[in-house]
Amino acid sequence: MKPPLFDYEAPSTVEDAARLLAEGGEDAKLLAGGQSLIPLLNLRFAAPSLLIDLNGVDGLGQIRAEDGQLRLGALVRHSTVAGDPLVADRHPLLSEAMGYVAHPQIRNRGTIGGTTAHADPAAEVPVVLLMSDARVVARSTRGRREIGVDDLFVSIFTTSLEPDEIISEVIIPDRAVEPGTAVGSSFQEFARRHGDYAIGGAAAIVHLGPDGVCRSARVGLLGAGMRPEESRAAAAVLESGTFSERAAREAAAVATTDISPLGNVHGDPDYRREVIREMTFRAVMTAADKAKARIA
Ligand SMILES: Cc1cc2nc3c(=O)[nH]c(=O)nc-3n(C[C@H](O)[C@H](O)[C@H](O)COP(=O)(O)OP(=O)(O)OC[C@H]3O[C@@H](n4cnc5c(N)ncnc54)[C@H](O)[C@@H]3O)c2cc1C
Repeated sequence: MKPPLFDYEAPSTVEDAARLLAEGGEDAKLLAGGQSLIPLLNLRFAAPSLLIDLNGVDGLGQIRAEDGQLRLGALVRHSTVAGDPLVADRHPLLSEAMGYVAHPQIRNRGTIGGTTAHADPAAEVPVVLLMSDARVVARSTRGRREIGVDDLFVSIFTTSLEPDEIISEVIIPDRAVEPGTAVGSSFQEFARRHGDYAIGGAAAIVHLGPDGVCRSARVGLLGAGMRPEESRAAAAVLESGTFSERAAREAAAVATTDISPLGNVHGDPDYRREVIREMTFRAVMTAADKAKARIA
């Protein structure tokens, strides 16, 4: 199918984009990589009267390390994030997760601002941002504000952005690593074909002391409900003592007890819960192995 008719604007500044969005009201839509929006238009699930193309907007395509945080412009493409040495050095989990996002052609167009605004609970990047305490900068004609992603992700495809707000940047604070400890992270997902949306997935960040005690942990879940999820209960299990395979199994069980994965043709909720449990176990074990290798 073809998309319904729409007007098209291609501003060159964030200020102009914000003005157009404010004037266009709820009928206007921002276009970034188009990898989610264009299929929605073609299927006529969305019919905006105005598309505001962000691709010509200056200053949204850089990655900078500044004041203990990584700042990614909203238009930074998935493939750029995947190959960027600053990202690999400071947030290897994000680099790793990018390898699971769709196919190279889609990663060459899709943007970090787009996947964050789209808020798909089955998407890889939102989970990693949640586990990394990331924030977004939202700009509008009314000014600028920062929103923590935990407050941003409201429900499936729904954020707390106002209709006139544009994400201009995603900010990820550097990971604090306690002296004498080592950190490892891992992203694991299962899809029938590489590049498809996952049936279920999980990510883990594990800090271990030289004595093998887990000093801190984060556990994120993909496709576990209506929004990206993080399991504090699973982290608490890991943080309760010396790391072991048994603790990893228990953390995976705890993480998936109360989740509500959505069922579809690829799997019913019970099957998906089992997949997420196994992916959580693998993510935790692999993250701990990486931390152990750094201690040794
Ligand atoms: C075949 C296929 C397979 C895919 N597989 C995966 C996958 O496995 N995992 C995955 O995570 N994704 C997958 N995707 C989606 C892809 O990652 C998209 O890039 C991403 O979801 C949206 O990014 P985008 O830049 O293309 O946004 P767009 O499609 O341009 O926009 C998406 C939404 O976000 C809004 N938006 C965009 N930018 C901003 C901004 N700066 N501020 C505010 N709102 C904004 C738009 O108005 C729109 O509502 C797939 C896509 C396709 C076509």
